[in-house]
Amino acid sequence: MGLVVQKYGGSSVADAEGIKRVAKRIVEAKKNGHQVVVVVSAMGDTTDELIDLAEQVSPMPAGREFDMLLTAGERISMALLAMAIKNLGHEAQSFTGSQAGVITDSVHNKARIIDVTPGRIRTALDEGNIAIVAGFQGVSQDKKDITTLGRGGSDTTAVALAAALHAEVCEIYTDVDGVFTADPRVVKKARKIDWISSEDMLELAASGSKVLLHRCVEYARRYDIPIHVRSSFSGLPGTWVSNEKPESQGDQQVEHAIISGVAHDVSEAKITVVGVPDKPGEAAVIFRAIADAEINIDMIVQNVSAASTGLTDISFTLPKTEGRKAIDALERAKGGIGFESLRYDDQIGKISLVGAGMKTNPGVTASFFQALSDAGVNIELISTSEIRISVVTRQDDVPGAVRAVHSAFGLDSDSDEAVVYGGTGR
Ligand code: ADP
Ligand code: ASP
Ligand code: MG
Repeated sequence: MGLVVQKYGGSSVADAEGIKRVAKRIVEAKKNGHQVVVVVSAMGDTTDELIDLAEQVSPMPAGREFDMLLTAGERISMALLAMAIKNLGHEAQSFTGSQAGVITDSVHNKARIIDVTPGRIRTALDEGNIAIVAGFQGVSQDKKDITTLGRGGSDTTAVALAAALHAEVCEIYTDVDGVFTADPRVVKKARKIDWISSEDMLELAASGSKVLLHRCVEYARRYDIPIHVRSSFSGLPGTWVSNEKPESQGDQQVEHAIISGVAHDVSEAKITVVGVPDKPGEAAVIFRAIADAEINIDMIVQNVSAASTGLTDISFTLPKTEGRKAIDALERAKGGIGFESLRYDDQIGKISLVGAGMKTNPGVTASFFQALSDAGVNIELISTSEIRISVVTRQDDVPGAVRAVHSAFGLDSDSDEAVVYGGTGR
């Protein structure tokens, strides 16, 4: 029996009962002969509550202090979980990300893991302990400051530890039975997927399926770590995510499904830079200003120039949380760009259809737009990759659009409804 890494999300440890339930599950894995490393998130919506609290004392909290605050959430759950396990008669020790050897760069609020040196975890395991690690956090290599990995970052902690410790598998325990063809909170008829390729999962995650964070899937793909996404509330097998289809998942020769699923995202906003002079170099100045502020953008659209004025509009999408920073950066760069005004819109949503089969099935795009049109949904921006097509719409249109596209591609389950065991969907 080898080493397993198990990650429990916030909804799985939302209260004392949840912590005790999870503790039992961990002890079962240990009794089955595994060495067990557990990565745990903050309880329930603790992280959101800490963010609200920070905003009450400062509209733009300093990154270093913000990270220090947020990591407190995971410290609470790791200590409580270790206590609950000890109460069941098994040895457990909790570790912060820093103690577990999670070394990051120094970009606060969205640090990247650059090294994992899990010496203390190895020792704890060798001494017969279950090791409990606080997710979503690390320590910066240069300044030795506490950092966080961005929302949902405990998934990345788990996979990074699984890679560093050469784990057999990384199990991600959450509040649904696995990865579904759409978010079960929106589509009751979503189907559970038994196996999905890392490639398709990466695209779903990047398009907003928060059941797995895209950085975690990226990491797992690079280090070839199989992920098993499953519910901590049921004993059911979940979804395997891996580079190659495992033999246990049936015929290797059968081609991938044409469509893996529909993702949606309502966490982005749109900025339109109005009246940009239509000459070479303008886009470069705009996006340099955004990049220098360390803001990641998603879609970009430039309108056709109005010949009479020689001016054009450039729109792009970005996380809502970066909206203020982006507007400030563009205002500062206004002199060098010479645009007329900025428009900010946070009432948008994105719907994406993902599937490797798209490459060879030319009808997919047409059917996607037909489904949106039949549902009366107006499209504002479009972007595509080889295996994905995404549109931006009004946020209110998102649930209806997701259901319409899901049905149109024959993804609706004809048996049971998808179960959501916990969480608030926040
Ligand atoms: P955790 O707290 O365990 O990390 P998250 O809330 O981050 O849980 O992720 C689980 C949630 O992801 C589910 O409750 C579900 O609403 C959402 N979700 C979005 N897309 C999907 C999908 N395709 N399959 C399953 N869950 C999804
Ligand atoms: N607690 C953090 C969050 O809510 C990290 C995580 O749960 O993965 O984003
Ligand atoms: Mg999560």
